[in-house]
Amino acid sequence: MEPTADPDPTDALSAVPAAGSRRAVPVTGHLRFYYGPMDCGKSTLALQVDHNHARQGRKGLLLVLRDRSGKPQISSRIGISRAAIEINADVDLCELVRSTWAAGSRVDYLIVDEAQFLAPAQVDQLAELADDSQVDVYCFGIATDFRSTLFPGSRRLFELADDLQPVQVDVLCWCGLPARFNARVQDGQVTRAGDTVLVADTGHSRVGTDSEPLPEQWSTTVRYQVLCRRHFRLGDLGLSQGVQGQLSFA
Ligand SMILES: [Zn+2]
Repeated sequence: MEPTADPDPTDALSAVPAAGSRRAVPVTGHLRFYYGPMDCGKSTLALQVDHNHARQGRKGLLLVLRDRSGKPQISSRIGISRAAIEINADVDLCELVRSTWAAGSRVDYLIVDEAQFLAPAQVDQLAELADDSQVDVYCFGIATDFRSTLFPGSRRLFELADDLQPVQVDVLCWCGLPARFNARVQDGQVTRAGDTVLVADTGHSRVGTDSEPLPEQWSTTVRYQVLCRRHFRLGDLGLSQGVQGQLSFA
């Protein structure tokens, strides 16, 4: 065979900047998604991250979608809470940040709790804020719904986020195995049908919002319970049917 000229190894990709010219590389913020089942302490972690940034003089916005308290705040099950801006799936997050800047306030970072309820387009907006405006974005949410299917917002976060962090607080099924699944329990039975979004707690449900009132008959009978995969599959709530969730506060 005729020897052929070696292909130029730099053909395929353009070279990354050498160390001395890194200043030419645009600085970006990052988009991070902390995810875990209900009761794993995500909201507590969200408030801790906010505290750590605020202590260093950074300014952030706390955003929440349908907090379990029903108020515009991020509330954790261990009793701490902070005021937050309640957003719905229609809010343009780039606009929200720009209007905050226009009003003269800095936005160095965003904390988004209950991020599974974000519309996919809003996750794209968060990525844009990180890339183009150097805003650091911390999202906290549940990955899968009561059918064990990814929430659309969580799916988009898995696709776009720079970092995916499982929240490492063990939540246990009644059998003692790690619980990753959020079962919806209605009248003592695991149910796999119904609307994807039904805000309730792992205690007795205090559910529904003004915009989404809960059907009357559900208001006292729907709750969530975290289960291991096997017991989620079997719909087995154990002998502890009266137990209303591992960390519930009545
Ligand atoms: Zn189990």
